[in-house]
Amino acid sequence: MKVPRIAIVIPCYNEEAVLPQSVERLLAILDRMVGKGEVTPDSYILCCDDGSKDRTWELIKTLNQADNRVKGISLAHNRGHQNALFAGLMTVKGKCDAAISIDADLQDDPDAIEVMVDKFSSGEEIVYGVRMKRDTDTWFKRNTARSFYKLQRNMGIEVVDDHADFRLMSAKALDLLAEYGESNLYLRGIIPQIGLSSGIVAYDRKSRMAGESKYPLSKMLAFSIDGITSFSSRPMRLVFFTGLAFLILDVIVAIYVIASIFFQTASKLAGRH
Ligand code: UDP
Ligand code: MG
Repeated sequence: MKVPRIAIVIPCYNEEAVLPQSVERLLAILDRMVGKGEVTPDSYILCCDDGSKDRTWELIKTLNQADNRVKGISLAHNRGHQNALFAGLMTVKGKCDAAISIDADLQDDPDAIEVMVDKFSSGEEIVYGVRMKRDTDTWFKRNTARSFYKLQRNMGIEVVDDHADFRLMSAKALDLLAEYGESNLYLRGIIPQIGLSSGIVAYDRKSRMAGESKYPLSKMLAFSIDGITSFSSRPMRLVFFTGLAFLILDVIVAIYVIASIFFQTASKLAGRH
């Protein structure tokens, strides 16, 4: 198999505090892999600025000037992690043999990229990064995540546990993703549905090096709702059957009311005679 050209796609929202270090680390990883003949020298990094309000976009431009393997796209507005990532994946589609998505804070171990590429080179079309432990998460995040996987599974949705958006996708997987046509982007639910051969790489998730989480509870909730309503008709059926139950209850009450009015009138009439 020929040496692959890879693209590392990073969604970035207000990441000025971490981006330069993250890019430096990723470039070093690329250099190492190029040195070992695992990826082509024109493999690159694409930073997708998700309408940041800080200096993220300026930084991306400076990083590009220093090393043109660092490329960038900029979204006009803040559209959220999944949209920024999707925009990035669609930008590299047709311009790489495999794309690896990773968060800007490098909480997901970038050294796992080499293992992902190795699995891709031995034939996997998708490689999921799976976190071994969640001890850097708060008790709340750990437990809500667990219950959420369970809920999704009960709803009949196929997801890879403890996998967020750190993954490798082959050019073929990117083409299929482009055809998916889903507007509520919940990539970790869509990608297993593509149905290509896949592997897993386990890694340790670290805490953020700098900056704050861009996922407040409100965004997490909206994301979870998308993660269920986009893939399962069960919530719709639940609404339907709840409606049906209330309808039946209403009919019973109506019959009862009509009957009691009827009997009251009848007994009044009977009283007159
Ligand atoms: N992100 C984004 N748009 C947003 C929110 C987040 O592109 O509106 C990016 C962010 O820059 C990071 C990734 O999505 O690269 C994950 O965000 P974060 O690390 O804050 O999430 P957490 O690790 O807390 O779940
Ligand atoms: Mg993070």
